Amino acid sequence: MADSESLSGLLSACRLVCREYKSENTVVKIGEAAIGGEGPTIIAGPCAVESEHQILEIARLVKSHGIRIMRGGAFKPRTSPYSFTGLGEEGLRLLAKARRETGVRVVTEVLDAMDVPIIAEYADMLQIGSRNMQNYKLLKAAGRANKPVLLKRGMSARLDEFLMSAEYVMSEGNEQVVLCERGIRTFVEYSRNTLDLNVIPAIKQLSHLPVIVDPSHGTGHRSLVEPMSLAALAAGADGLIVEVHPQPEKSWSDPEQALSPEGFARLVDKVNHFIDWQKQYAGLATQT
Ligand code: PEP
Ligand code: MN
Repeated sequence: MADSESLSGLLSACRLVCREYKSENTVVKIGEAAIGGEGPTIIAGPCAVESEHQILEIARLVKSHGIRIMRGGAFKPRTSPYSFTGLGEEGLRLLAKARRETGVRVVTEVLDAMDVPIIAEYADMLQIGSRNMQNYKLLKAAGRANKPVLLKRGMSARLDEFLMSAEYVMSEGNEQVVLCERGIRTFVEYSRNTLDLNVIPAIKQLSHLPVIVDPSHGTGHRSLVEPMSLAALAAGADGLIVEVHPQPEKSWSDPEQALSPEGFARLVDKVNHFIDWQKQYAGLATQT
C-alpha cells in the first residue's frame, strides 16, 4: 500500500468518499444500468437537446448499440450569453419523452440549486458540470435529491478539491455519486483541454466512488475521442460519456467534438473488443 499512502495525505478532511470509509467499490445504479460494477458503462448523446426529432433519433441510435444511458443538456452553461443556452424545461420534457419511447435512462445538467427538484422529476441522473464543481449550494442541493449525481471535475480543480466536492454531495445523504474526468486547462492549445488520465488510478486508490471519462470535452476534437476513450479504459475508468449527433457539423453546440453515428458505432465496437481483451488479460494475470 506504499503507493496509496503517498497519495492519502491529500485527503486529511475526507470522511465519506475515502476508501477508509468504505473499502469496496461503490456501484451506482441508474435504472437497470450500473456504473462501477462489471465492465465499463458508456453514456452517449448530444451536447444539447435541440428538438424532438433530434433527441428521439439519438435515443434510438444509442439504444441500437446496447447503450442504456443517454446524455443531453437542457440547461447549457455557455461561455457567451448569445450562444444557444438550451431548451430549458421543454428540453427536459423531450428527454422524458425519449426515455418513455426507448427505455434509455437520461442524465442532464443542473445549473442552479433551485432547479434540482424539477430536473430530478424528469431525469434519472443529475449532472453537475465543470463550471459548478465548487458551487457548494448546488452540491448540497444535489445531495438532498434522491437521484444519482454525475460530478464533473472543475477545469482547474486539484484532485483533493474534486473529491471534497463529492464529499459535499455525500455529506447531505446522497452516496450515489459518479466522478467524471473531463480535462483540465493547461498551456496546450491544440486540444480544448488536457485529459488528465493520471487521475483515474489516483482516484481508484483514494476513493470507492466510480469514475468515468469524458473524452469529448476532454479533447474537443472528434478524431481524438476514440483513442482517448480506449486510453481512459486502459487507465481503469469505469466508463465513458461521449457526445454523438446524427449530423455532428450541424450540432447547435460543440459541433467539432460530436461523433457521427458511424464514428460512434466504431467506438462501441472498439470498446467491446477492449472488454474482451481485458477479460483475457485478467485471466492471464491471475494465472501467473
Ligand atoms: C457537458 O457535459 O455538457 C458540459 C458542459 O461539460 P463540462 O461541464 O465538462 O464542460
Ligand atoms: Mn458539449
